[in-house]
Amino acid sequence: MSTIKNDLALFNELVEVLIKEEKINPVAERIDSSELYETIDLSLNDGAMIDDDFKTLLSDVLIATPKTATNLFFNQLFGGRQSKAILGDLLAVMLNNSMYTYKVAGPQVGIEQEIIRQSCDLIGYGKNSNGTFPTGGSMSNYMGLIMGRDAKDPSCRLNGMTKPLIIYTSKECHYSNSKNASFAGIGRNNIRYIKADSKGRMIPELLEAQILEDIENGGVPTYVNATAGTTVLGAFDPIDKIADITEKYKIWLHVDGAYCGSVIFSEKYKHLVKGVERSNSFSYNAHKMLGTPLTCSIILVNDKKHLHASFSNDASYLYQTDGDDFNLGKTSFQCGRRNDALKFWTLWKSIGTNGLKQIVEQQFKLADVALAYIRKNPDYTLYSFDDSISICFNYKNIDPMALCTALYEHQETVVGFGSFEEDTFVRLVTINANNGKEDILNFFKVLEAFVEKNPNLEKVAAFTV
Ligand SMILES: *Cc1c(COP(=O)(O)O)cnc(C)c1O
Repeated sequence: MSTIKNDLALFNELVEVLIKEEKINPVAERIDSSELYETIDLSLNDGAMIDDDFKTLLSDVLIATPKTATNLFFNQLFGGRQSKAILGDLLAVMLNNSMYTYKVAGPQVGIEQEIIRQSCDLIGYGKNSNGTFPTGGSMSNYMGLIMGRDAKDPSCRLNGMTKPLIIYTSKECHYSNSKNASFAGIGRNNIRYIKADSKGRMIPELLEAQILEDIENGGVPTYVNATAGTTVLGAFDPIDKIADITEKYKIWLHVDGAYCGSVIFSEKYKHLVKGVERSNSFSYNAHKMLGTPLTCSIILVNDKKHLHASFSNDASYLYQTDGDDFNLGKTSFQCGRRNDALKFWTLWKSIGTNGLKQIVEQQFKLADVALAYIRKNPDYTLYSFDDSISICFNYKNIDPMALCTALYEHQETVVGFGSFEEDTFVRLVTINANNGKEDILNFFKVLEAFVEKNPNLEKVAAFTV
């Protein structure tokens, strides 16, 4: 047997271990970070570690690693496992293409382009649209910002910043916006954070007022980031109303749909991004709502000339055959680029667009289960709203930070907390479409039983209801 066959057999054996372990211990036993290096042998040495020792160590590492695919993981904006996507990702590893040229990636280029084409059609972008697969949602936002910057001031590409460019986003936006402003040379102080309404959505009137004020002061309004699914509340900014403003003042509109942009696959929930076809760029993470392995982020651009204008560069050592439409390196940030498209394509191909729709709708069904449970139980206070898969609540006035940390330290369930305005609360994310109603109800059972057993959990002063 060749080495690769041996290693793939070992892989299968280890996957068996992992899947068995996930059933017995859906929350991995926590190793305190201060004891990590004493607990597992992670050291690299001059000598080789072989065979049985190697296998045992790998198995120990798997068992100790936090489990993100089980029915007790609700901490992040991803979870669960779509097996057809895993198949695609494993094949991408075996093929090990780089997506920059047709010469090296062949049909994988077509696979990526087909996903982009279909996605553009779904959101109503026209025939000049295109896109690419950046390394994640933060990078998608960064690429959107760079295109917006270059569209407003093309000389930026050659001379650097010469104008006082200003960008806009809501207070509830993802933190990549502030990092990206500094990377792009715009500067963190030149972001205007527009207040959100009581449901966490950007207030368009305040956006316009701020733009007018900046123009009066000699600023150059350049870019607006609207969010489709804010990181804490899962709120959707009103894209149509924001587009009225960006069109009026000729400002680039980027829609950050990293979290919930995948609602475009559901007729029922698509209305949440109404007006998205009027944006200049739109991004979504298939590794969030659609459940592909990390990372799988897509940015779509209404007019592909902006992708070329900001990201292409001649390189005769690289681009030696085929046209620009097949040499995807001309529209990407990086040079060598991992194949993130194949895993999404194997999933999409095997379950169809209807299957993707069901994945998305299942998450809203689970959210409804959680909402209904919380609403009929007076021990809970609800902080979130309809049409969101982030269910935010507090239980019996227990400090949510203390509660989440205790649940994690006792291996009960993994869930995080968030804040909006004055309130801090537990945030249950119903993004794992492998879960059913019973898994959501079980989460509450686990939480309540834990509180029952631990009456000394810290309380906070009465919450505002
Ligand atoms: C997750 C998220 C991002 C960042 O995506 P990464 O792939 O983690 O970089 C950006 N915006 C929003 C709204 C998100 O939820």
